[in-house]
Amino acid sequence: MLRKLDFEEIVKARNIRNFINGEYIETGRWFEKRAPYDGHVVARVAEAGKAEVDAAVRAAREALHGPWSKLVVTERVEMLYAVANEIDRRFEDFVEAEMTDMGQPAHFIRHVDVPRGAANFKLFADIIKNVPTEFFEMATPDGRGALNYSVRKPVGVVAVICPWNLPFLLMTWKVGPAMACGNTVVVKPSEETPQAAALLAEVMTTVGIPKGVFNVVHGFGPDAAGEFLTTHPQVSAITFTGETRTGAAIMKAAADGVRPVSLELGGKNAAIVFADCDRDAAIEGTLRSAFANCGQVCLGTERVYVERPIFDEFVSRLKRGVEAMKPGLPTDPASGMGPLISQEHRDKVLSYYKKAVEEGATVVTGGGIPEMPEALKAGAWVQPTIWTGLGDDSVIAREEIFGPCALVMPFDNEAEVIRRANDNDYGLATAIWTTNLSRAHRVAAAIEVGIAWVNSWFLRDLRTPFGGVKQSGIGREGGVHSLEFYTELKNVCIKL
Ligand code: NAD
Repeated sequence: MLRKLDFEEIVKARNIRNFINGEYIETGRWFEKRAPYDGHVVARVAEAGKAEVDAAVRAAREALHGPWSKLVVTERVEMLYAVANEIDRRFEDFVEAEMTDMGQPAHFIRHVDVPRGAANFKLFADIIKNVPTEFFEMATPDGRGALNYSVRKPVGVVAVICPWNLPFLLMTWKVGPAMACGNTVVVKPSEETPQAAALLAEVMTTVGIPKGVFNVVHGFGPDAAGEFLTTHPQVSAITFTGETRTGAAIMKAAADGVRPVSLELGGKNAAIVFADCDRDAAIEGTLRSAFANCGQVCLGTERVYVERPIFDEFVSRLKRGVEAMKPGLPTDPASGMGPLISQEHRDKVLSYYKKAVEEGATVVTGGGIPEMPEALKAGAWVQPTIWTGLGDDSVIAREEIFGPCALVMPFDNEAEVIRRANDNDYGLATAIWTTNLSRAHRVAAAIEVGIAWVNSWFLRDLRTPFGGVKQSGIGREGGVHSLEFYTELKNVCIKL
């Protein structure tokens, strides 16, 4: 039975501190986290400076060689299972944290964000327990031979830099495998979403994860906690999810010391809808892919190519679907959409709404700010929006907006749509809607992305590789692929 949340209870501000070497550290410098739906202060957060980041990295380095390193894999696995179980036990606390930080409907957070957080610990615990070892016998000139085997060692202290759009899911997606592989971590959550990391620190303490294995520093990016962490010489590897521009800065930071970096970056994902598709499924899938989480999903669709014979019908059905999405509070079961993360992000999204009109778009629906009740007027609400009438060279078709909006464009044949979908700097994901099996395979093979969905979207088996091509990222995480980043393979050669 899910605990019913009292909204009065949620709106009380709380203080969030850094978590370093198992202790909660204040800094004397506080910043405020405001709820996206009404602007009230949700939390005061202690901002980490250079000294706190340094203390966190040192604690992580010490823990790397302390009790954590003495655990055998099965013991580490047990601890990660305990973390997952404790997350499940505190499920509603995480729901509340994500709701007040992100403002998205509770049913979305309960269905996606929090269960995946727990799953990220269980899955990587299972993977590390079952990972095979390479073994090669070789001949030697003296006839006695030699044996080779490889072992996976932790890479060291991993800096985990997170975005705000699915805070708990994306943080645990990195912390889970990093810890499963025996690393220690310093997490820098987004300044917009500090609460889930703070709660995870409590979980780590409750289940007895040794001090210093999991650390959290709060604060901002450039010339602040984020940059202090990524430039810290004692950090062994950096895993980052966020904007492409930030990824480039982090890659430069990683070059000093030649440190590995994993980058999950932005997207400008295309959906491709063929006339032979299951139209109900394509409409439902496109509505989700463009508007879930108020369009703040890296895998979300912002370009929709629709084959000309069904273009008009598709646009009018999309319009109906969008207009049925009523914005509302996370706790309101009737809420179809939350607000954007902040006023600053809303300004950015609205600047694209303006740009679309300047470029000559037809606004099919939306394009502005919805009328909200007085109590929610200070929220970062924005109307879900559909445009037609622009081509592939428009700014709206080329740049990531990261809001609830999609540009719908007609196409006439398969070769043309493949060329147009690929003509973009990004390459994260695509959704292809067709009932023609051969065409599905052909298009999936030809589209330049890391993830191609056919007749679905956001269907994720966590064992599969995840990542983007072109400016959408470097490297793959997910399943055993995560081990390539979070471990160093060492070969041992024994002369017999
Ligand atoms: P962002 O790049 O602004 O910030 C991400 C994190 O980096 C934050 O914690 C921020 O404080 C930190 N940061 C910023 N500048 C830094 C610097 N110079 N050095 C170190 N840290 C720094 O991204 P965001 O706005 O939080 O997230 C939205 C973006 O994330 C979108 O572009 C979205 O597509 C992308 N994203 C990608 C994926 C993926 O898997 N490919 C998943 C989710 C989000």
